[in-house]
This record gives sequence, C-alpha cells and structure tokens, in this order.
Amino acid sequence: MKRDKKIRDHLTKYIAINPLYCMACWECIEECPKKVIGKSGIIVHKHAHIVKTGECIGCKKCIKACPHQAIIELPSIYRDYVDKPNQYTRDDWQRMIIDLLGY
Ligand code: SF4
Ligand code: SF4
Repeated sequence: MKRDKKIRDHLTKYIAINPLYCMACWECIEECPKKVIGKSGIIVHKHAHIVKTGECIGCKKCIKACPHQAIIELPSIYRDYVDKPNQYTRDDWQRMIIDLLGY
C-alpha cells in the first residue's frame, strides 16, 4: 500500500512525474498556476511530487518547464486510475506505473 501511495503522489488526471528523472530544479513548481506540485522532503533524493492532485487543470506548463523530461502527459486510458483508485488492485497500479514511468 505504501508503494501505491508513492505512485499516486506522482500523478494527476493529466500528468505524471517521474522522480527518477527529476533533478529538483523546481521549475515546474514556479510554472504551475494551481500550486499542484510540491517539493519532497527527502534529503538524499529531492524531487517534485504532487501535493494537490484535484487542482490540476491539465495546462501542461509543468511539462514544458521541465528541462529533464521528468513530467509526461498522462495517457487518457489511465485517468480512471486517478479518478477511481480503489477500483484497481495493487498489481494493476504496478503494471500501470511500470508501463508509464519504467520503474
Ligand atoms: S498541468 Fe498545469 S495545473 Fe497541472 S500540474 Fe502541470 S502546470 Fe500545474
Ligand atoms: S522541472 Fe522537472 S526536474 Fe525540475 S523539479 Fe520539476 S520535475 Fe523535477
């Protein structure tokens, strides 16, 4: 379940952040008009994560701002995962995230 939360912390209905590619430059945080993205508190590997998933309007400013391609548009087939997370099993989530982000 901890892993599921970790995955959900990196998704909105419209975008996904890959923490492995994130270099903590915080450009996406500066650009997001809805303050959807925040900073992780992990000292060894700081990275961006989602703090207000419901506020994301899908403007994609964060995607354009990221110099490391750490943010991608979430394919529409996965939007249900964010809307109805409890309808999916842990295996479903893991398959989805490996598919999407490769980890
Ligand atoms: S798509 Fe727009 S609103 Fe959503 S996180 Fe990115 S910049 Fe913020
Ligand atoms: S712009 Fe990209 S690299 Fe910079 S903090 Fe955001 S996700 Fe990480």
